[in-house]
Amino acid sequence: MIEVTNLTKKYGDHIAVDHLSFRVEKGQIYGFLGPNGAGKSTTMNIITGYLAATEGTVTIDGKDVQKDPEEAKRSIGYLPELPPLYVDMTVREYLDFVAELKKVPKKERKQQIDEVMEMTQITDMQQRLIRNLSKGYRQRVGLAQAILGYPEVIILDEPTVGLDPKQIIEIRDLIRKLGENHTVILSSHILSEVSAVCDHIMIIAHGKLVASDSPENLQKLMSGSMELDLEVKGSAAAVKSALQEISQIDRIEENTEASKNVAKLKVISKENADIREQVFYALAEAKLPILEMTHAEKSLEDIFLELTEDVAPTQPEKHKLFSKRKKPEAEETVTTKEAESYASHL
Ligand code: ADP
Ligand code: MG
Repeated sequence: MIEVTNLTKKYGDHIAVDHLSFRVEKGQIYGFLGPNGAGKSTTMNIITGYLAATEGTVTIDGKDVQKDPEEAKRSIGYLPELPPLYVDMTVREYLDFVAELKKVPKKERKQQIDEVMEMTQITDMQQRLIRNLSKGYRQRVGLAQAILGYPEVIILDEPTVGLDPKQIIEIRDLIRKLGENHTVILSSHILSEVSAVCDHIMIIAHGKLVASDSPENLQKLMSGSMELDLEVKGSAAAVKSALQEISQIDRIEENTEASKNVAKLKVISKENADIREQVFYALAEAKLPILEMTHAEKSLEDIFLELTEDVAPTQPEKHKLFSKRKKPEAEETVTTKEAESYASHL
């Protein structure tokens, strides 16, 4: 239902989104995963009609978003990175205001707002000023405004950023529930987060798509080869020769720090092979005692890093991916001006 083709966004000569193409089918939960600066928010802003693309197209049910951004906004509920909240309104006043902007029929407004508040568990907060809400509750109000009007597609940009673990679980459950009746796209820079709720994961780095698959298939890709770190009493040459027999070994790397009598090696298996027993027996037979054998399984994070680090940016960036340098913290609230500009687009 959403088709992104060759989507490119340039800021000056910096390419934030680099010829991105993917399809989003109805009724599934999609995870848009990538490190900070990968281009997630930019892509979401284009899909939702808030930002113009430099090149490429986005269509929703065949309709071009760039040509009719209003139509896109009608069929998509959006929680941007900075939720567009009016801090001087109460929760109920704000949702009433959003419902009006979204042209929810007057007769249905009250009931819909009640339902949406119930879903996001903010009913008890409806008379509070948004200014006085915690970050977690503000995020829920942001979610509530995205859900209002029950659009077919709901797009959530890093919906759990800044929340505590309990709140993260609650939002995750809510996203699952939303997925039953809506198409949901959510972005995150945390792999475990998207693999927990999504039917399909798209990984992007430097604005490019590096993987697009089900969590199960990515998991398979991720389990990949096994790496064993070995410390063996004996010479590296003797160990290597003893291990030669094992056909499931892909390669052996020698650690140069090894001392004279103790060989330190890294043994890497072929796809999905568990070689621990074979290594044990082969070395025992050769009378080469294993002093230590540790199994470093690749974590989801390792694979994510591998996948995203392999991608060269089209335009060299000064900072490395995942560098310690953090993006400036997003402000918790937007200024009235920003909220107004968002509201004018609703
Ligand atoms: P993500 O949401 O994945 O963290 P963004 O889409 O926010 O990534 O940003 C992608 C890249 O585009 C980053 O390198 C960012 O610095 C740059 N960028 C984003 N918005 C602007 C802007 N308004 N002007 C210039 N560069 C921008
Ligand atoms: Mg972002």
